[in-house]
Amino acid sequence: MLPIATYGEAVLRQVAAPVTVFDSELHQLAEQMLHTMQQANGVGIAAPQVHRSLQLFIMASNPNPRYPTAPIMAPQVVINPQILQASEQMVAGEEGCLSIPQQRCQVMRHQAIEVKYQDLSGEWCQEWLEGFIARIFQHEFDHLQGITLKERATEA
Ligand SMILES: [Zn+2]
Repeated sequence: MLPIATYGEAVLRQVAAPVTVFDSELHQLAEQMLHTMQQANGVGIAAPQVHRSLQLFIMASNPNPRYPTAPIMAPQVVINPQILQASEQMVAGEEGCLSIPQQRCQVMRHQAIEVKYQDLSGEWCQEWLEGFIARIFQHEFDHLQGITLKERATEA
């Protein structure tokens, strides 16, 4: 399990660098991130959270003790992501973050987004995401811009 950066650490405030080399080292990093995320009962983890300032995150929604009602999806490695379009409709929802333990915040997110990203082999994928999966993507995407849910949280 990799050490997780916590709120206040500089790596969480940096804009992450694009991934340019899709080698075995990148595969290994993704595997270690997936393992770390699963051990911590997360539904997503971004490279800056494990002290690597790279445009890489994993989304892997699954019901777990932290998110009992999360939908089930196979883990997806997301590299050099872009948000192409976003629905005007925004939805409020409670979010946690592995870097901000024991805290939940209400955050407004787009209900649906069209995204583009590379997978571990460098292939581009383009798709629409909605609901909880779109929420995870927006949360992790923020980490790559140096933004955490603390900056996104709406005042209760
Ligand atoms: Zn987070």
